[in-house]
Amino acid sequence: MRNNKNWVKVIAIALTIVGCSKNDSDTNTDTTTTTTTGVPITSAVQSKYTSAVTISTSGSSITLKSNGTPDHVTPYYGVGHALYEAQMVGSTLNPGTIGVQNYAMTIPTNPVEASTKEVTTLGPIGMALNGVPIYNDREGGNVPVDAGVLGSFDRAGAHPGPGNTYHYHCTGDFMGNDDAKLIGFLRDGFPIYARKDMDGSYPSNLDANGGHIGITADFSTAIYHYHASNTAYLGSRFYILKSGSYNGTKGTFTQ
Ligand SMILES: [Zn+2]
Ligand SMILES: [Zn+2]
Repeated sequence: MRNNKNWVKVIAIALTIVGCSKNDSDTNTDTTTTTTTGVPITSAVQSKYTSAVTISTSGSSITLKSNGTPDHVTPYYGVGHALYEAQMVGSTLNPGTIGVQNYAMTIPTNPVEASTKEVTTLGPIGMALNGVPIYNDREGGNVPVDAGVLGSFDRAGAHPGPGNTYHYHCTGDFMGNDDAKLIGFLRDGFPIYARKDMDGSYPSNLDANGGHIGITADFSTAIYHYHASNTAYLGSRFYILKSGSYNGTKGTFTQ
């Protein structure tokens, strides 16, 4: 009788162990799909960037080269340029203009989540589909964009920095804004979208870095992707593209 009870215990423990290992392996399989192997981005990168961006692949990395000049109108091109338009009423141009640059961003073909998240800093944190760099919510001195800086933005949510380096801080009238358009890729290889998901809703489960995992118009396999902020920045017409940390490990961006 006593022996029988012990056998029941042994069997119960064995079942528990089998049950646990099954759950564990299921969890590992999911993790592998989204964070260990990563969703391949090469074909989306090749098909979505404009002809202003030269793309090459080497092993597990993709390099995107551009001259950083926008393909839309902006007052920063200066009077006389084919893509010049007057600055918005109430805004003031900064002293910069648009210079031809020599950018190269290298990103992984299969971006994965980093175990330690690195905070984005001043300077290029990604590249929009037209080859113009994406910056975060910081300006010179690594301080948040303030009302004065906001007043220098053109309709694209952009302005030139030192060295006539034109760059986007915000959504604007030429990329995605109140929609689900792909805007570009950040230096960790993850895509960044405008304020909506492709079902037309505003995402409600973004993490601290402005991203979440899901399918998009460009990725039928769920992939981590960022969204532009859905809060009008300082009550302006602009929405910050990206603040906080990278989800993955950042690649190089040389200029
Ligand atoms: Zn700036
Ligand atoms: Zn989304």
